[in-house]
Amino acid sequence: MSSKKEKIVLTQIKQDFTTPVDAISDYINLIIDGSDVYDDEISDEFQNIKKSAKTLRVNFNDAFLEYADTKRKTISNDEEASILRHDLRTPLNGIIGYSEILLEDFEDDIEESHAEDINHIIGLAKEVEGAIARFVDFLKDGTDKTSESLAENESAENLFSSLGKIDYKLEIIDEIKQSRILVVDDIKTNCDVLKRRLENNTFLVEVSMSGKDALEKIAKEKFDLVLLDVLMPEVNGLEVLIKIREEYSADKLPVIMVSSFDDVESISKCIQLGASDYLPKPVNSTILTQKVASTLERKSLREREEQLLSELHRQAITDEMTGVPNRRYVFEQLEKSFDDIEKNSKEHFATAIFDIDHFKNVNDTYGHAAGDEIIKKVCNLATSIIKSPNIFGRIGGEEFLAVIFNDSENHLQQICEKIRTSVEKEETLFDNQKISVTLSGGVCFSNESSSVSDLVNKADERLYLAKKNGRNKFYLKEE
Ligand code: GH3
Ligand code: MG
Ligand code: MG
Repeated sequence: MSSKKEKIVLTQIKQDFTTPVDAISDYINLIIDGSDVYDDEISDEFQNIKKSAKTLRVNFNDAFLEYADTKRKTISNDEEASILRHDLRTPLNGIIGYSEILLEDFEDDIEESHAEDINHIIGLAKEVEGAIARFVDFLKDGTDKTSESLAENESAENLFSSLGKIDYKLEIIDEIKQSRILVVDDIKTNCDVLKRRLENNTFLVEVSMSGKDALEKIAKEKFDLVLLDVLMPEVNGLEVLIKIREEYSADKLPVIMVSSFDDVESISKCIQLGASDYLPKPVNSTILTQKVASTLERKSLREREEQLLSELHRQAITDEMTGVPNRRYVFEQLEKSFDDIEKNSKEHFATAIFDIDHFKNVNDTYGHAAGDEIIKKVCNLATSIIKSPNIFGRIGGEEFLAVIFNDSENHLQQICEKIRTSVEKEETLFDNQKISVTLSGGVCFSNESSSVSDLVNKADERLYLAKKNGRNKFYLKEE
């Protein structure tokens, strides 16, 4: 491109930038002139817009001077282009964000003509966005795509004006209301805007203004989602994302990247590094809410699934009537403990099988419901004596099994005595009648047997002997 043509394009771009920025300043000054009807909170928002507009103009003028007029600086790669785009867009994002918040939060307080002006400001800010993109692209490639894309833009505009007539509302399901979100961005305006939009949608929001602070907060507190800016000084967003993924999977802590990098490369990089989604700046409030809500919904669904699975697992290994481990679980654990010994990774243990004496009589005398109460009572007593890592469970009607990871005969004797005497002493009150029962048991040590079935058979044989020799006793060896 000839330097003359270049100059013409740059002048056009500058004009395309200056015209809407001037208009934004005009509108905001007009509103501020008539703003004595508003309270401080609303007036502050107007001042925020004014300040952002001023910063935008200063930043652009500086950039124009450096990159276009004097050419002291140049853009030689995508990263430099992204940084300049980011710097110019930041105050612009402020203008759009504060304006949208005014319309959303103070819908009923703002006069209609002022609301119209604010809508104009948002429209103008979008024009500025186009001028910034043109400027940066031109500095980068020396080309200007505006004339080629005009027709495309027109049809897009038609599409969007018809979309404007459709009224859509996003619903936040109860399960994700009050979700805790951490917003990470080094620019306060961005944090402010995201925080307030998300709070308007029922979420609880914390803010971090640096990568380091974000990582500290995540280590200390529990969050459901992180919105993470990519471009930050010191620790940038990608580094924060990598650190988060060292500790948490995407299922446990989803991360949505927020950035004005709009090239496919960096978005795909974020996804490869474990980001759940990506939001372009300036953040559109509908897309923000939709992406945040769907990410949180996915997380909540997965958690629900996990809960259901663990509940199913719990049911599969629990005896329904008593709540203690069932036969399947106890035998699984017994097999596992036996395997562990064979692999030399665990010490020997003992197995005790015990059974309520003359239980048929209890049912016959007091009824089946009374019998059930007795079984529950025995389970409670045994559970209070046989503590984890030892295992106790119900393996049949009135038959129980314990795995005790201590092969000292003395210790076993003590435990069995404790169970036997506490059941013997216990009286269960049922229908104003006191019922008491006794237990018999057989114990076998793992070093006495070559397999689980051998172990169980030996314990059973000793239980049988205890029954035969008068009941209410535990046998540790053949007697
Ligand atoms: P022993 O001292 O030889 O063990 O005599 P027992 O009467 O306890 O033995 P037996 O095996 O003949 O009877 C066990 C009884 O336990 C028979 C059965 O009806 C009863 N039973 C099994 N499961 C339950 C239950 O869940 N609730 C109630 N109430 N009774 C049960
Ligand atoms: Mg940043
Ligand atoms: Mg019995």
